[in-house]
Amino acid sequence: MRLTVLMNAGPWLSVPPPGYGGIENVVATLVPELRRLGVRVVLASVGTSTLPADERFSVFPDGQFAALQRPYNQVCGVSQAHLDGVVRQLRARDDIDLVHDHVEAVGLATLAAMGPHAPPALHTLHWDLTKHPELYGNLDAGGRIRVNGVSASQLARAPRALREHSVGHVHLSTPLAVGADRAPLREKGDYAIILGRINPGKGQDVGARLARRVGVPLVLAGPVGPYHRPQDLAAAGKEARQNPDVRFFSDEVAPHVDGDLVRWVGTVAGRERDDLLAGARAALFPLRWEEPGGTAVVESLALGTPVVATARGCLPELVEHGRTGLLTDEEEELGELLLAASLLDPAECRREAAARFTPAVMAERYVGLYESVRQGARVGRMRAAA
Ligand code: UDP
Repeated sequence: MRLTVLMNAGPWLSVPPPGYGGIENVVATLVPELRRLGVRVVLASVGTSTLPADERFSVFPDGQFAALQRPYNQVCGVSQAHLDGVVRQLRARDDIDLVHDHVEAVGLATLAAMGPHAPPALHTLHWDLTKHPELYGNLDAGGRIRVNGVSASQLARAPRALREHSVGHVHLSTPLAVGADRAPLREKGDYAIILGRINPGKGQDVGARLARRVGVPLVLAGPVGPYHRPQDLAAAGKEARQNPDVRFFSDEVAPHVDGDLVRWVGTVAGRERDDLLAGARAALFPLRWEEPGGTAVVESLALGTPVVATARGCLPELVEHGRTGLLTDEEEELGELLLAASLLDPAECRREAAARFTPAVMAERYVGLYESVRQGARVGRMRAAA
């Protein structure tokens, strides 16, 4: 019988996302592949999502991302309202075989609280698992709910209770990885790029300082809090400083942004983003946190751009030092490594992505996990009935 999966992408951005959006990019890649494998997909998202699915429903007409960094008392109802919509669907229908959930914390807690009458669920952990210690450290979701990580290193740092619910990890893939090894290789420019949210963990301040030191032009692409364009941030005035990422950008990154050697171009999307990433001599990840899944790392490899990064989180798992990138434990070495990155072969990066990070590889792995989650839930039910 055909498997029906409720794919819960959450209320924050449409699928596919208009630009920035790690989780939404992954869902946009996974759903078409699952459908090709014969899985029926019911997508829970927002009204502006355009990803083809067998069915779609939403609570919010459009993405609530701009609300995300407002004070807790203004934003705490958003994901709950979305999950409430999911729960209503699950109660009203009996055709859902499994929920694949991507909503941080609330998704896991709500599905666990639904108890044995809800379908089994796989909750993908896209974030840093040292967060939410009270939830993750005490999790007891019975046999019905399983979690998966997005890298082995991420799961290794998880609290024991969470690891006990784990069925392993699945590396990420995004639309940029589609046909990675078939497209013609792009001419390389002389610049490096940091693609991602501008945030202390992603370390754009370090990257900008070191790129200037060694004289490598650097493009910073990504949103600052809810601001996607430099002119929007400028127009927001002092108010914008309530947002911690805006404060980080203004105080630590902007002093290095001279519009010449270091540029902030805002959020880039579609062809512009792909050309910018593919044309870079290196993608830089001067990380200050343990990067959990590294969507942009995988995307860089897929477009033939070697990765230069601090050897933190999933980086050593995704990048082979000396072949597809250059990794270091010493932040101060990153500038010199940017210079050396031109010696790496872009075709090697794409071959690696085509072997390990394709949509098909990711989808097959998830189908396998769906089966083990359903199997585990059946065993749990039999034990409860005995
Ligand atoms: N991204 C984008 N445009 C930008 C910045 C980022 O399309 O200007 C995309 C990027 O391609 C990746 C995602 O947003 O798919 C960022 O995901 P990542 O896991 O690297 O960062 P995080 O989810 O931690 O913010």
